[in-house]
Amino acid sequence: MFDFIMTDEQKKLRDEAREFTRWVPRDMILAMDSETIQFPHEYLREAGKRNLLGIRIPRKYGGRGLGWVDDGIVAEEVGVASYSLACLWGVGADIVCEAICVFGSEELKQEVVVPLLRGEVYAAEGLTEPRGGSDFFGATTTARKDGSDWIINGQKRFIVGAEGADWFLVYAVTNPSAPPHQRMTAFMVPRTSGVESKYIYGLMGVRGGGAGRVIFKDVRVPERYALNGINNGFEVFVRMMIPERLGTAAMTVGSVRPAIEIATRYTSRRKAFGQIISNFQAVGFKVADSALLLDAARSMVYTTALAIDSGKAHPGRIRRMVSQSKKFVTETAWEIANNCMQVVGGIGYTNVFPLERIVRDIRLSMIWVGTNEIMQMIIQNEWYKEYDKVLSKEPVRDVESDAANAGQQEEKVYE
Ligand SMILES: Cc1cc2nc3c(=O)[nH]c(=O)nc-3n(C[C@H](O)[C@H](O)[C@H](O)COP(=O)(O)OP(=O)(O)OC[C@H]3O[C@@H](n4cnc5c(N)ncnc54)[C@H](O)[C@@H]3O)c2cc1C
Repeated sequence: MFDFIMTDEQKKLRDEAREFTRWVPRDMILAMDSETIQFPHEYLREAGKRNLLGIRIPRKYGGRGLGWVDDGIVAEEVGVASYSLACLWGVGADIVCEAICVFGSEELKQEVVVPLLRGEVYAAEGLTEPRGGSDFFGATTTARKDGSDWIINGQKRFIVGAEGADWFLVYAVTNPSAPPHQRMTAFMVPRTSGVESKYIYGLMGVRGGGAGRVIFKDVRVPERYALNGINNGFEVFVRMMIPERLGTAAMTVGSVRPAIEIATRYTSRRKAFGQIISNFQAVGFKVADSALLLDAARSMVYTTALAIDSGKAHPGRIRRMVSQSKKFVTETAWEIANNCMQVVGGIGYTNVFPLERIVRDIRLSMIWVGTNEIMQMIIQNEWYKEYDKVLSKEPVRDVESDAANAGQQEEKVYE
């Protein structure tokens, strides 16, 4: 985040997050990328010890009780060390803990949130299924009532942290004949009998973060583990879009930041045709454009965070801004990472520099927590609704009628 708009407390928070990012052992990053480590327990324990999990979660459950701007500040810094670590950091403490704090019982807050924020347990989020992730309502995982319990059957796919998770936030169909919005329930499922995770994917990037398949075979959970009651999972899903997508945007800014620093250092020293290559505009402009794009991306995250923290923006506006941030930042980060690799030349494509890992890692950002095509759909929906309900009702000026031939109504053909 930009330091000139941070308060002194926010600068302190950023410095704590930076200190934590400096702590991350190099061996951990390399072992995760080579998948010698499949779930970095040590990282989460350390984050918990430093009270850097759950930035927006109330203090009484072990969080910091701060806002979205603060969360964005920490997420950016956490993203610097590795995207895979940042994904884990965000899913458990930022997403699942928020779901429990907003929609769960006091018992779940004590049993899951408190130890999770200490870094002692982990909770993953399971929406995506083998048959598809974008079509949330098409889920085939079911929960059937049995006495006062529910019996869950089904599979979830590509679940970050599945390998090390003690708990899973699982969306299951509880009322198949109801309209889509009233069909699903969000359950907190402990790793209990009938739950099996499999670390089976040969991922391009974000390796070592436990992303796996989770199978639920006749898993019995008490009804009190449902978040927001039975058949009300859609509300949980909608609320979780914000931490999933704004969190992703913020950490993606951090993860691509080192690429620009590496490219700037390299191009300031490397010579070709007897000159430092940053003197060639084809090179220097790519680095300059990358700096420009990073600032634009960061501005978008900051503005969206402010909109949420203000409590004044309409929920539809927030959904649009969050989706815009996710789409813009992740596509921008992809462009930046590729620009940076390009100006470093052949050696940038090797593991002598971490640019190739950054490129592999951040490619995920355009796919997960809702693909960018799904972001586009949300932006389209929300923009047209907002125009119809708000903007069209209070035009600042009728600019359309300022055209020289504006009065030629017969030329304004719409059908
Ligand atoms: C490493 C990794 C980690 C992940 N972590 C998690 C996790 O922790 N929890 C979790 O639940 N999921 C997770 N995911 C899953 C991820 O969120 C999904 O892969 C994603 O939502 C897309 O779902 P899908 O792969 O089934 O693709 P599909 O839904 O089959 O989509 C395929 C393509 O079709 C497009 N498409 C689909 N519908 C439309 C439409 N209506 N309009 C336009 N285009 C459309 C999509 O944009 C995409 O390009 C992870 C994925 C990966 C790879």
